[in-house]
Amino acid sequence: MTIEEVIEHKRDKKVLTREEIHFFIKGYVADEIKDYQASALLMAIYINGMDKQEIADLTEEMRLSGDVWHLDDIPGLIVDKHSTGGVGDKVSLILGPMIASCGAKLAKMSGRGLGHTGGTLDKMESIPGMNIYEDETQFKRQINEIGMAIIGQNEHLDPADKKLYALRDVTGTVGSIPLIASSIMSKKLASGADCILLDVKYGSGAFMKTIDDAKLLAQTMVDIGKSLKKDVRAEVTDMDQPLGCAVGNNLEIKEVIQTLHGNGPKDLNEICLSSGALLLQMAKIYPNLEDGRAVLIENIKNGRAFEKFKEFVKAQNGDVSYIDNPSKFKMAKYVIDVKSKYKGTIKKIDALAIGLGSMHLGGGREKMDDVIDYSAGIVLNKKIGDHVEKGETLCRLYTDHSDYKEVYDEVLDAFMVSPNKVELEKSITKLLIE
Ligand code: URA
Repeated sequence: MTIEEVIEHKRDKKVLTREEIHFFIKGYVADEIKDYQASALLMAIYINGMDKQEIADLTEEMRLSGDVWHLDDIPGLIVDKHSTGGVGDKVSLILGPMIASCGAKLAKMSGRGLGHTGGTLDKMESIPGMNIYEDETQFKRQINEIGMAIIGQNEHLDPADKKLYALRDVTGTVGSIPLIASSIMSKKLASGADCILLDVKYGSGAFMKTIDDAKLLAQTMVDIGKSLKKDVRAEVTDMDQPLGCAVGNNLEIKEVIQTLHGNGPKDLNEICLSSGALLLQMAKIYPNLEDGRAVLIENIKNGRAFEKFKEFVKAQNGDVSYIDNPSKFKMAKYVIDVKSKYKGTIKKIDALAIGLGSMHLGGGREKMDDVIDYSAGIVLNKKIGDHVEKGETLCRLYTDHSDYKEVYDEVLDAFMVSPNKVELEKSITKLLIE
């Protein structure tokens, strides 16, 4: 077999065999297949797609391209949760302690933020001391002892994805459903959980712009799970406005703490409860969703979920005094109120513009090696459906940069205020695919 033949097959719309996919992944990871050849194959996949079996085979070959962690010696079913990313998405940091406080075990590897989306690891690292790297033994010990661990992607897992993702990024082949699905799922499956809950977001602040694309990606990933005999379910949720109110690293950690105390924004609280109940069902702890939800609510009220968050921070070397006393977090030099020019009802909040605004204030990175200011970001005072008076604060900017004027204007433009009553849809549109 030659790589030229594999490329020609996909170019000619043929279905690739497992052997051909194996040949490609093995050869590319070993540097025997060159970037220009891999690019041609990726483009052929981008244009001609892949069927279900090819996508499952590609995922499996990528999963097996490096180390694979086995969590079978931890008693019970291990769950993992993955969001395709958005603006203000701090769900894993709330959901993890909530379900672990009910006896579930969460094993999660996360990524860093780039562009307008924030990354869970950066949010975690805004807590002084927090360690995000553990080896397999430490990861398992922590899950056994406290029921959860969230760490950075281990560099020995799924090397095929690392190389392919970097190549896709510069060859116009990122936006292909088979390639996105296999990239996400191969990493998740290599890290060893038994059940995976995916949150596929759509809307201005998300990777997938339309609900149809999000549904297709969700279905493709659930089908990969079926082919590989794993319990994978997906929620499709909207990212038409930021999730919760805080966008930016330590600002989001403060919102995590508030939510675990029972005082979080409604939309964030709801998504944590409904996804949490689903994870407890998948872990076979509370087969009935209502029962799971009730215990989650109870554990917020009685403080067990908050205590679990502290255990998690402590287990990963974070300074728990910041969790008990969030006013210790570094505060930005400038706090600026963005004021509404109109009276009316908030009709839209462009999540992409808010995410980019936070990045420009210092809260995110444009390039992977940019340094983040953990105190920078934006906190919304108004969400879709809220009434606003002329001159009232829409949101607050937090930054150490004195030249925030341009961002101020961009963020102001992100809010659409309607003089009429706004027909409020459900605060989160949610669809379950299983
Ligand atoms: N996230 C991933 O891990 N891979 C993709 O291809 C896209 C988003």
